[in-house]
Amino acid sequence: MRTTTVVIGAGQAGLAMSWWLAERGIDHVVLERGELANSWRSERWDSLRLLTPNWHSRLPGYRYQGDDPDGFRTMAETVDFIEGYGRSIGAPVRTHTTVKAVRRSDDGYEVITDKDAWHCDTVVIATGACNIASVPGVSESLPPDIATLTTLQYRNPDQVRDGGVLVVGASASGTQIADELQRAGRAVTLAIGEHVRLPRRYRGKDILWWMDSTGVLDETYEDIDDVVRARNLPSMQLAGYPDQRMIDLNSLTDIGVKLIGRLAGFSQGKGQFSGSLRNVCSLADLKMNRLLKVIDEWVEQNPLAEEIDAPQRFDATRVEESPPLLVDFARSGIRTVIWATGYRPDYSWLDIPVLDKKGYLRHDGGVVTGSPGLYVIGLPFLRRRKSTLIDGVGHDARDLSANLAGYLAGRSQPLHTEPRLVAI
Ligand SMILES: Cc1cc2nc3c(=O)[nH]c(=O)nc-3n(C[C@H](O)[C@H](O)[C@H](O)COP(=O)(O)OP(=O)(O)OC[C@H]3O[C@@H](n4cnc5c(N)ncnc54)[C@H](O)[C@@H]3O)c2cc1C
Repeated sequence: MRTTTVVIGAGQAGLAMSWWLAERGIDHVVLERGELANSWRSERWDSLRLLTPNWHSRLPGYRYQGDDPDGFRTMAETVDFIEGYGRSIGAPVRTHTTVKAVRRSDDGYEVITDKDAWHCDTVVIATGACNIASVPGVSESLPPDIATLTTLQYRNPDQVRDGGVLVVGASASGTQIADELQRAGRAVTLAIGEHVRLPRRYRGKDILWWMDSTGVLDETYEDIDDVVRARNLPSMQLAGYPDQRMIDLNSLTDIGVKLIGRLAGFSQGKGQFSGSLRNVCSLADLKMNRLLKVIDEWVEQNPLAEEIDAPQRFDATRVEESPPLLVDFARSGIRTVIWATGYRPDYSWLDIPVLDKKGYLRHDGGVVTGSPGLYVIGLPFLRRRKSTLIDGVGHDARDLSANLAGYLAGRSQPLHTEPRLVAI
């Protein structure tokens, strides 16, 4: 079968790209191994809600219409939202079609699925950034009697056997799971490395409102000095609880979670933890305060019509003077480890030499290096700080589809970043 562009993946990224391809009159098909919004359906834990408010999920030609703009979607609501988007734009999705291989052909690309083969001029990889749990090498030295789960496997506390739990990683997933397990009566220890602390609300408004209004989320990969570092930053330490409560290390300490340094190794039944806990927490506090200062300065320069609360600062993260460096798992009753140490994409089906040594795609803002006509969308800081957020992907799709249209027209298209759109 032949089409101009094959988009692989029908999450928000593939669907937003489909909207822009249609807008530009480019014939295409979207291949999806499951149903629309498959990752939201099958790879998230039961209690998860989006950490971005309802209003902050603007996709091209689609936005929240309900009466709770400041609420946080459950997974079922998120699936409805993404699926509703796909249907409303009439995206040409072929569900239950798994891409098994993508190769170069004489005149473009060949996309082999478990059902058929497609020939096309261009391919957009929209298969997500979180296909595989990224588990550190130290996991291999854990004794076999310790049960392990990744955040892709975790569903709810009932799935975790009795006894203490070590959650490794203190970003959005790790802190939310630690909170849930501790409240369910488990003794949770949380191992903490670099993290991005943020208040849920600031000066009477949601932190995402501020990050959106000040333009922090619109920063582009061309604007910043160290894009490699920016692409590797941990996720925002936030949760979308219905009561708007804030999650941070202090709130976890308040409910009894034990904070400990980064897990560095495991030997003779003992976990070895870094002594840098205080430093990483101070750094996270410092960076949070830096962002709050940016917001305060922005307010001074852009007075709001409405009344807003005065600037505030949050308590520094409380950590033990000398957190333990060694923990005997048997003695402390830890029987389960949950790896909340991030995710990575899976390109095992890609038969084109465009991956770096670590298995990541080499690309310039989504234009894959060394394979003209091949694009990727939905990766961290692909083009903007908000590239992986539902709210950000439409902007990236617009830029990349412009480049793709130029490529098809036989002219090289500068990969410029379109100015911010208020409504797309
Ligand atoms: C735990 C968690 C919480 C998050 N919370 C938020 C949030 O609150 N707000 C927010 O804006 N963002 C959030 N994100 C980030 C982001 O919105 C999600 O990761 C989102 O799923 C990314 O969308 P995507 O379309 O890029 O990828 P995905 O949603 O992963 O879609 C990729 C699609 O590709 C399909 N696919 C993969 N391989 C193949 C193949 N070989 N053949 C065919 N199809 C294939 C998959 O089935 C999937 O449907 C969160 C991410 C995670 C992991």
